[in-house]
Amino acid sequence: MVSKIYFDHAATTPVDGAVLKVMLPYFGDKFGNPSSLHGFGQEAAGGTETAREQVAQFLGCQPAEVIFTAGASEADNLAIQGIVRGSKVDCPQIITSTIEHPAILEVCRALAKEGKATVDFVKVNRLGLVEVKEVEKLITDKTVLVSIMYANNEIGTIQPIAEIGKLIKQLNLKRQNKIYFHTDAVQAVNYLNCRVDELGVDMLSLSGHKIYGPKGVGVLFVRAKTLIKPIQFGGHQEYGLRPGTENSAAIVGLGKAIELVNSAKRSAENKKIKKMRDELLAGILKNIPDAKLNGDPVKRLPNNLNISFKNIEGESAMLMLDLAGIAVSTGSACASGSLEPSHVLLALGLKHLDAHGSLRISLGKGNTATEVKKLVAVLPGIIKKLRQIAPK
Ligand code: PLP
Repeated sequence: MVSKIYFDHAATTPVDGAVLKVMLPYFGDKFGNPSSLHGFGQEAAGGTETAREQVAQFLGCQPAEVIFTAGASEADNLAIQGIVRGSKVDCPQIITSTIEHPAILEVCRALAKEGKATVDFVKVNRLGLVEVKEVEKLITDKTVLVSIMYANNEIGTIQPIAEIGKLIKQLNLKRQNKIYFHTDAVQAVNYLNCRVDELGVDMLSLSGHKIYGPKGVGVLFVRAKTLIKPIQFGGHQEYGLRPGTENSAAIVGLGKAIELVNSAKRSAENKKIKKMRDELLAGILKNIPDAKLNGDPVKRLPNNLNISFKNIEGESAMLMLDLAGIAVSTGSACASGSLEPSHVLLALGLKHLDAHGSLRISLGKGNTATEVKKLVAVLPGIIKKLRQIAPK
């Protein structure tokens, strides 16, 4: 049965009708290659350049600092590998956190394994927060990159990016080799201030499909004069940093999606999301014993809940909810395909059993109070049933 109620917006969001509308002509009349100099090409290029301006407006940067990619995983890869390739430091050091998305963690691990960089991981506290002083402790003469995500995809914890940005700016005043600061802002864009100068970041990744835009398109903001080299070759597109014919329809869609993030309508929708999220949490904690919220209760995305239920398997609860027509997730969408417990929950200090017994519920602008009530009504019975059949 296809789920009817969708509470998995951290995995992906439905495309907004207004976004789809601006994309459609790029599959029709406006099909030209944006690199072609004739009218067809220039019409398509007009669309991608408007999108670049929309993103630049949102981030408070120059359009030439916006690099379109095929998603945030690619943007993260470009940020990390590109800085290492561009660095003059012999075996440079990267600092990142233990709770990053795999698009950061796996790249760092691969570079370390190949001997191209060393990597140090900042631990998070029990609420999933990176402490600025812990980042500072790890910095050495060889540090070329600090990459800390803005908001976590599993537990919604919001990191002190502007404070880390300030620290790095200060340290850079006295250093020979600059430390670049990157943030994966994929989950933050819908809800938090992403103006790059206020955050003090040199690079920022974001993704179209988490903001009611299309899949397979993302952005890496790269501050002017950053020493970064491409990691893919074969084309001059995107200021020489990302080759390949631009996915103009998706880029135009991302531009519109990001413009809508800043609308008055969206800010009203976000308030409603937070209210529903709070009601949902209260309803779950009131009706289900031995349930515990993971992550910071306050420094947290307004649409996110991540809850551990004692003595159950999260996967089973997720599947039973799906049968009841409600889609949620266990941990991140990518991790939920594996039987490994979430690296994020383990990093908070949760025991394997508790990490296995957790659900991520992420709300979006299409959700209603009635849907929240339905989840509050259905979940206690499911958890009770699973606990009855759990091995004692
Ligand atoms: N970074 C974070 C924090 C994410 O949540 C995701 C998606 O799950 C990604 C990166 C990858 O984004 P994309 O699907 O556009 O490659």
